[in-house]
Amino acid sequence: MNTVRTRFAPSPTGFMHVGNLRTALYAYLTAKSQGGQFILRIEDTDQERLVEGAVDVIYNTLRQVGLLHDEGPDIGGPHAPYIQSQRLATYRPYAQQLVKEGKAYYCFCTKERLESLHQQEGEGDHRGYDRHCRELPPEEIQRLLDAGTPYVIRQKVPLEGATTFQDAVFGEITIENKEIEDQVLLKADGYPTYNFANVIDDHLMEITHVVRGSEFLTSTPKYQLLYQAFGWQPPTYIHLPLIMGRNEDGSVSKLAKRHGSTSFQGLLEDGYLPQVVTNYIALLGWCPKDNQEIFTLSQLAESFSIDGISKSPAVFDYDKLNWFNGEYIKAMDAEAFRMQAMPYYQEVFGQEEKPWAVLDSILQARLTKFNEIPGLLGFFQALPDYTVEFFINKKSKTNLENSPAMLQAAVEALEQLSEWELDSIHNTLINLAQSLGVKNGTLLWPVRIAVAGTLVTPGGAMEILTVLGRDEALRRLRLGLEKLA
Ligand code: GLU
Repeated sequence: MNTVRTRFAPSPTGFMHVGNLRTALYAYLTAKSQGGQFILRIEDTDQERLVEGAVDVIYNTLRQVGLLHDEGPDIGGPHAPYIQSQRLATYRPYAQQLVKEGKAYYCFCTKERLESLHQQEGEGDHRGYDRHCRELPPEEIQRLLDAGTPYVIRQKVPLEGATTFQDAVFGEITIENKEIEDQVLLKADGYPTYNFANVIDDHLMEITHVVRGSEFLTSTPKYQLLYQAFGWQPPTYIHLPLIMGRNEDGSVSKLAKRHGSTSFQGLLEDGYLPQVVTNYIALLGWCPKDNQEIFTLSQLAESFSIDGISKSPAVFDYDKLNWFNGEYIKAMDAEAFRMQAMPYYQEVFGQEEKPWAVLDSILQARLTKFNEIPGLLGFFQALPDYTVEFFINKKSKTNLENSPAMLQAAVEALEQLSEWELDSIHNTLINLAQSLGVKNGTLLWPVRIAVAGTLVTPGGAMEILTVLGRDEALRRLRLGLEKLA
C-alpha cells in the first residue's frame, strides 16, 4: 500500500477559523494514525483574496498546536515549491494538454459578455457559462490567438451523464453533469484557478487522502472530472461535517461571531489553552471508540480513524470548552501552572513577592481560565467597601454581636506570631477557636470577611491572611473591628 499522504491547503485569507484548524488537525491525524505524511501547501492563486500576514498566522497556529508538517514551504520537500504562486509554470502545460486532447478549450468571451450572462441567469438548462466558445472552429481560434485576444481555458464538461464519487464520510455522491459549469482552469492572467491548481498539486504531490470541509462537497465532482480527464487516480475524499453554533433560542446555525470567538487566535485571547482547542475540536465531528474525552495530540493520532468521523453537523459548545480548559488546568504540574499564572499574579501584585504556592493551591482547582485570576484576586489589591451585614452567617453562627470579639481575639493571637506562614497561622487560629470554645467557622468567618471584604473568595481565611502579609492582614482586621464598633 502507498504511504498515506494528506495535506492542509489553506488560502492565506486572514484568521485561522476553527473549521480550518479542524481540517488541519483531521488531515494530520489521518496521516499520522496510519504512519503517513502531512504536507502543508499554501493556496494563494486568488491574489485578490490575499491578506498580509496570513501565512504567518498559519505557520504560528500549526506550531502552537504541534501540527508539524513533513513537507512545506518553510522546510521544503521533494515536491517543492509548496506555495502555489511559486508554481505557476507547472499548471499551464496541464491545461494545454487537455486542450490538445479536446477536453478543454480556449474561451475568448469578454468580461462584459460574461457579466450580461450572469444577469440573465436563472433560466435555461444550466447555470453559469453558456459554453459559447466550446465549439469554435479551429481557424477562428487560431485567428483570435494570433491577434493576441485574451483568453481563459475552460474544461469541457460532458453534456450528458452524471459524475459520481465516493466520500469516506458522506458516502456516494452523484451530480448530473449538466449541473456542472465548464469551469475555468487557467485565467486570462495565466494564473490557474483554485480548483485546477488544487487537483494538479494533489496529484503531483501524491496526496492519497483529501480532507476538507463539507462546503467543498459540491465542487468535488469538478475535481473528479479533472482526474478522469487526465486519467489519474483520484484521492480518497474525506469531507468534514459543518460546525454549528447554538443560538439563544436553542436552535443551531453555522458557527458565527455572535456565538463566540470563531478563530484560533480569538480563542487564545479568550483564555483557552492551545492544547485545549485542539483536544476539543478533535471531537467536533469525530467520535472515539470509547468515551475518552481528554487526549494529547499523540493519543489522538493513536486513536483516530476515518470511520469515526460523523457527517452530522457538530455543535461548538463553549461551555464544554470551558470544562476542558478547567480539566487541563487541574491536570497541570506545579511548574506549568505557576508559569501560566504568573503574568496574571503580577497584574495583581506587581513585582511584590508573594507566597505563590498558597495562591496556586487555592486557584488551580477552581480556574476555568487563567485570565480569571485578576478578577478572583481583586480583593487583595484593594479591600472592597463591604457592608457589616457580611459578618452575619447562620451556618457559622456569626452575627454583629460575636464578630467583634472574634476579630479582637484573632488580632491579639496573630500579633504574637513570629513567622507569618500558612502553617503557623493555621495552628494559631485553630488553637484560638478551641480555647474560645467556638467552632472554627465562628472564628474564621468574620476573619475572612474582614480581610477579604467580600462573601465569596478563592481560599479561606488562613490562605488570605498568608497572602496579604502581616501588616496588611492586621490592618484589615482592625478596620473590621472599627466597622463593627
Ligand atoms: N484552499 C482551500 C481553502 O483554504 C482548501 C481546500 C482544500 O483543502 O482542497 O479553503
